[in-house]
Amino acid sequence: MTDQYTFDNPVTRYPATTLPPLDLEAPGTEAEMTPKPVLGDETYRGSGRLEGRRALITGGDSGIGAAVAIAFAREGADVAISYLPEEETDARRIVDLIEAAGRTAVAIPGDVKDAAYCRELVESTVRQLGGLDILVNNAGKQQSVESLEDLDDQQFDDTMRTNVYAMFWITKAALRHLKPGSTIINTTSIQAYMGSPTLVDYAPTKAAINSFTTALSQQLAPKGIRVNAVAPGPIWTALQASGGQPPEALPELGQQTPLGRVGQPAELAPAYVFLASPESSYVIGETLNVNGGMPTP
Ligand code: NAD
Ligand code: MG
Repeated sequence: MTDQYTFDNPVTRYPATTLPPLDLEAPGTEAEMTPKPVLGDETYRGSGRLEGRRALITGGDSGIGAAVAIAFAREGADVAISYLPEEETDARRIVDLIEAAGRTAVAIPGDVKDAAYCRELVESTVRQLGGLDILVNNAGKQQSVESLEDLDDQQFDDTMRTNVYAMFWITKAALRHLKPGSTIINTTSIQAYMGSPTLVDYAPTKAAINSFTTALSQQLAPKGIRVNAVAPGPIWTALQASGGQPPEALPELGQQTPLGRVGQPAELAPAYVFLASPESSYVIGETLNVNGGMPTP
């Protein structure tokens, strides 16, 4: 493959390798992973689709958020990323890639479970980038637990705060900076429709993200701000390799999809570019499924 436009067979575009049963400590880093998630740093080719735009991507240090950060920068956007302090190594790599694309990179570590940090994250982005046009709510927590009896109150609360409350706090803080033409993109999941038996806390957060997206999109459309979502299927990322799945389930991750293989973060980035760019001006409240072919409602 030479870039994302290369014509080839999606079944074999990325290898259907048997993944190792990694069991990293959450949130996990790509620095610790073999094989590495494919972020598109070796392939993504920009064509000016986001020229001069200013984006904030939460969880932009790794996985889907990192692939989006690389793509946005190569499309001409300045990019701020948020991540947890223990992910500094991954974040540095993405900052370097954004800068290598000739754009401004801003790194703002912190915990999105903290409302004050979420508000400061937005203000700091606006101060450093001179404004905000694209918000990608992508940070997420996923920890599989076998039975409801073992799902403790702390995890339930942490998952809700990370996946739902943070999106609310960050979006609310961003709103006063977003001009007509701005876009908000939320990362939801196939789990919103097909909850796994071991993700009883995580799956409902993704259903909440879907309905938050639809409701807010109706409210903001008349103001010229578009809200949409991307719903990934099984993607090889640190989240999956650090307890998102039971480790013994990782070798089979993605094999149940019609494509028969796990997805790579690089395959998500074009969906975010499309929704962020004015070319999708009439697309509002939509969920773009990028899941290897699993039917969704
Ligand atoms: P990832 O681990 O690479 O990225 C998730 C990021 O979330 C982390 O890098 C981290 O920076 C951030 N994060 C988590 N808790 C945080 C906290 N308390 N404070 C600040 N940041 C925090 O994994 P990913 O798979 O790329 O995840 C990105 C999004 O994609 C998540 O919302 C996830 O739910 C969603 N998703 C992933 C898959 C998949 O199969 N990998 C499928 C569907 C949806
Ligand atoms: Mg990370």
